[in-house]
Amino acid sequence: MADDGRMSNTTGDGTRAVRAGLPEPVAHEPTMPGPVFAAHYHLPGEPAGPYTYGRENNPTWTGLEAAIGELEHPGGDTETVVFPSGMGAISAVLLSQARTGDAVVLPDDGYQALPLVRERLETYGVEVRTAPTAGDAQLDVLDGAKLLWIETPSNPGLDVCDIRRLAAAAHDRGALVAVDNTLATPLGQRPLELGADFSVASGTKALTGHGDVLLGYVTCRDPELAAAVRLWRKTAGAILGPMEAWLAHRSLSTLQLRVDRQAATALALAEALRERPDVTGLRHPGLPDDPAHRMAKAQMRGGRFGCVVSFTLPDKDRAERFLAALRLVDDATSFGGVRSTAERRGRWGGDAVPEGFIRFSVGVEDTADLVADVLAALDEAARG
Ligand SMILES: *Cc1c(COP(=O)(O)O)cnc(C)c1O
Repeated sequence: MADDGRMSNTTGDGTRAVRAGLPEPVAHEPTMPGPVFAAHYHLPGEPAGPYTYGRENNPTWTGLEAAIGELEHPGGDTETVVFPSGMGAISAVLLSQARTGDAVVLPDDGYQALPLVRERLETYGVEVRTAPTAGDAQLDVLDGAKLLWIETPSNPGLDVCDIRRLAAAAHDRGALVAVDNTLATPLGQRPLELGADFSVASGTKALTGHGDVLLGYVTCRDPELAAAVRLWRKTAGAILGPMEAWLAHRSLSTLQLRVDRQAATALALAEALRERPDVTGLRHPGLPDDPAHRMAKAQMRGGRFGCVVSFTLPDKDRAERFLAALRLVDDATSFGGVRSTAERRGRWGGDAVPEGFIRFSVGVEDTADLVADVLAALDEAARG
């Protein structure tokens, strides 16, 4: 370990993940301290940190924030601010940065709740421009913008854009750059190293991976940007519970095992689906002939192209029958969990997808079992 307790940036991802954010060994203390439940701390005399009042800070957050920072930018100086959901983190960046009269660029195919933030920004007099993720189309609407928001790979369309290229163009124009890193996780992509100012994610998905915690975070290098996000958290007062912070930190120790298994099975599933005449619009960034593959391979890490496979069945009924016929897969939203889930995305109404569009999230089941279950369910759905 480095003198300051962090591991060097040559340490392997799995090794880093099991120790990230843990304290130095202290005899007879637990190797991973439990959650600290405290609304206030002993604070004699003049108030001074690190721990004063529970809305501002908590030692269990500190451990988790250190861990996420080590994964997002190993060996680098970063600050991370955790939130009780991904939307909490996204709102904190956009609402702490954008002022009346500013222009902000969002993807038009990003997470389905982004339009809610867009409406909020517009009521505050912020101009919002959108463009698709694919083809780096956001480049065309950058002039005069204050902040560029990138989501790559995008959810649920799985398009990929060139973070380095977009970040350089945005910085040339004086704009800040935020990347939603939810789908990739920090083991699959390191946006700060590709030029982003903020790496933002929902930890509800693959990062924590058990479908039992909501979490969000913002990691940045610039302490002033981090301070603005932290002040937003204190102001909005929407904070993560210590139990959730602890569960999330505990989950990080298996992050590499989970994302590697999920990526391998997702690719195997996508390859099996490619052979099916009833499947169209198949997308997975790991498929060599996927439109996003070349760029994904260049900027994502370790073959970790994520756990999501998306595809379209002929119509809504066929999709519903398919979901009902699956034995090993829960019909549920979200993604990244250890148990596979799938849903007909069109049921929410927020994404521009066909009625038969399925977003499939691969869990950590045995690959052969999962692929067999999916193929059997497709056959059953086709029989009507
Ligand atoms: C789920 C998700 C979010 C929102 O996260 P929550 O934890 O549900 O608030 C944001 N971005 C992406 C890409 C997501 O998939």
